Amino acid sequence: MAVRRDKKLEKKIAQERIDYLLNLSQKTKWVDYSLSKRYVELAVRIARKYRVRLRKRKLLFCRKCLHPYRGDRMRVRISKGAVRIVCLNCGSVRRFRIK
Ligand SMILES: [Zn+2]
Repeated sequence: MAVRRDKKLEKKIAQERIDYLLNLSQKTKWVDYSLSKRYVELAVRIARKYRVRLRKRKLLFCRKCLHPYRGDRMRVRISKGAVRIVCLNCGSVRRFRIK
C-alpha cells in the first residue's frame, strides 16, 4: 500500500529548496557561471516536479538556456512602457509590460 503523501508539505519543502538554489546561483554567478547555471537547472527541475510556481523568481534567469541573468551577459531595453531583456548567451528575447 502506498504511503499517503503530504503534498502541502512537499510543496513547502520544494519552495525552500528552490529559494536556496536560486540564492546560491545568484551568489556564484560572478565566480563560476556554469556552476550557477547548474543551480538554476536544479531549481527549475524541482519546480516542475512539484508543480511549484516560480513567479517573479523566473526573472532571475533566462528561460531558454537557464543561465542566470548577469550584467554583462544580458541587455535590457525599456521602450513604450515595456521592458525587453535579451539574453546574450542564447539570444532569446523576453518582453513584459510595466504598469
Ligand atoms: Zn539564454
